[in-house]
Amino acid sequence: MAGTTNAFEMAQRQFDHVAELLKLDPQVREILRWPLREYAFRIPVRMDDGSIRVFQGFRVQHNDARGPNKGGIRFHPAETLDTVRALGTWMTWKCAVVDIPLGGGKGGVIVDPATLSTGEKERLVRGWVQVMWKNIGPRQDVPAPDVGTTPQMMGWMMDEYSKLSGQYTPGVITGKPLGGGGSQGRTEATGFGVIYTVREAMKHLKLDPKKCTAAIQGFGNVAQYAAIGFTEQLGGKVVCVSCWDRNDKTSYTFYKADGIDPRFLMSITDQYGTIDKEKARAAGYSIEDGGEWIKKDVDVLIPAALEGQVNAETAPLISKNVKIIAEGANGPTTPEADEIIKAKGIFLVPDFLCNAGGVTVSYFEGVQNDMNFYWTKDEVLEKLDTKMTSAFAAVLEMSEKEKVFMRDAAYMVAIARVVKAMELRGWI
Ligand code: NAD
Repeated sequence: MAGTTNAFEMAQRQFDHVAELLKLDPQVREILRWPLREYAFRIPVRMDDGSIRVFQGFRVQHNDARGPNKGGIRFHPAETLDTVRALGTWMTWKCAVVDIPLGGGKGGVIVDPATLSTGEKERLVRGWVQVMWKNIGPRQDVPAPDVGTTPQMMGWMMDEYSKLSGQYTPGVITGKPLGGGGSQGRTEATGFGVIYTVREAMKHLKLDPKKCTAAIQGFGNVAQYAAIGFTEQLGGKVVCVSCWDRNDKTSYTFYKADGIDPRFLMSITDQYGTIDKEKARAAGYSIEDGGEWIKKDVDVLIPAALEGQVNAETAPLISKNVKIIAEGANGPTTPEADEIIKAKGIFLVPDFLCNAGGVTVSYFEGVQNDMNFYWTKDEVLEKLDTKMTSAFAAVLEMSEKEKVFMRDAAYMVAIARVVKAMELRGWI
């Protein structure tokens, strides 16, 4: 098997491997290897200078046997249909593994949102809804934020959908701002969810969290709250985070041997996750090459930036003292790197289990929208912890029972649930 960083090929290879372990019927495999529906479309947008720019948009609906499709919309200059397909496929497994009644979907636009004004962003997201509105909805497909998209954008999209459909429909999209139909706890959900699974992994491995250190890749929404959770909830120490610097067009690692202060770093980070180097240096951080995070001699590695970061080149650089890799990002590890991680005996919390906190609270948001009754942050986070902890337990039990790698166990739990729903609905 040649090396690949095509995310969708990776998603299919992971699926094929587990389909083989499960001896899945070839016809069932054919349904699950590909998204059921895909939309690729162009969105003309009036720019501030009066010109028209045309953006490429996508939406992929992988499988809705268990409920409406669910998944974020990513704005990234390197977005491709294959990335969206992969992320949509992983959403199906993610919703199934945490046992929420939703399917998998994902969307995207090829754009660097940092190059757009506020008005241009608003016209672009409203344009996305104008194309897609007949194919999304609370009972069809419910988008959400992802890399490069924000709660405010979700608010505009909900407004556009409500106008086009003629009724206030907050449940069409999640990740909305508080006061605009959003849920308490959504901002923290993915990062805190990562930390609930890290806590469970530490219990399993009999590690004392207070004596544990972590290195994190990225410093966006997921990484920031993972860093806060690791330090404030577990009492551990995060020695570095990293980020993509939009000005220098390169990535950096921000390292502090006695532990970073995530709230301070957040105060000097812009909305795209770029940390101010000068202010960090003045506060005693050493600024290293972006690839350094993975080489740190820590107990826990948390890749929380983009896909394909732990690969055949970088995985051999992982310290022999690393005990846990908790995948905050989607698809951060290639199949080649999985083999290296297995050989090193590192305990893996796979992406669609580890970062399922975001979609879980998105689901809670939809439930609250339906009820028109809203929970407190403590209620939301407590329900999230219960879901993440029981999902972790189900995957660990499968891994021990079948003597398989945690990623394979997560796939086995998720695929079995989706296949069961397809059977019950008479699809197979
Ligand atoms: P974000 O846009 O808020 O942050 C991304 C971070 O990664 C930024 O700090 C950016 O500077 C950094 N980054 C980008 N390229 C990098 C590189 N080459 N090296 C180092 N850092 C780099 O995004 P996010 O919402 O935190 O999402 C991060 C990952 O988590 C993505 O894979 C996303 O799909 C996944 N995810 C997000 C959520 C969510 O709720 N936000 C939920 C599940 C999964």
